[in-house]
Amino acid sequence: MAKISDSVCLNHPDTPAVTRCATCGKPVCQICVVRKNGSDYCSQVCAANAEKSAGRVNTVMESKKRASSRNGIRTLIVLIVLAALAAAAWYFYSSNKDDVDKFVKKTEKELGTKIRKNAAETRKSIEQGIPTGSKYKANREETVNSGM
Ligand SMILES: [Zn+2]
Ligand SMILES: [Zn+2]
Repeated sequence: MAKISDSVCLNHPDTPAVTRCATCGKPVCQICVVRKNGSDYCSQVCAANAEKSAGRVNTVMESKKRASSRNGIRTLIVLIVLAALAAAAWYFYSSNKDDVDKFVKKTEKELGTKIRKNAAETRKSIEQGIPTGSKYKANREETVNSGM
């Protein structure tokens, strides 16, 4: 009998095993088997160990659940902070509306002046850099006239 440990009980070498321990895998007979939560175990120790590890799994799952709810709370806090910032900005704007408007108008005016100035300078530099169309046209007309 090569597979004796597979076919007979761990505690009773003459009794055929009916099942294997869910924790350690040892074969056990009908007398020795410990049934707990729908699983078979060779001893109370293995049953207790299985329960303990199941408890660990539950703990891990619960801590994961806790972590995700913590993330939710963090997101909520971020949203609240953003809302508070927006409210503060709005409050600042409405209580200093005239100043803010003045500042915005001043900035717009300054920017507008700067842009107009830039455009004028750009136009000037283009006019200076490139020979004017009329001069080019005059040269062309001269050539055409002399050719005729
Ligand atoms: Zn066992
Ligand atoms: Zn047994």
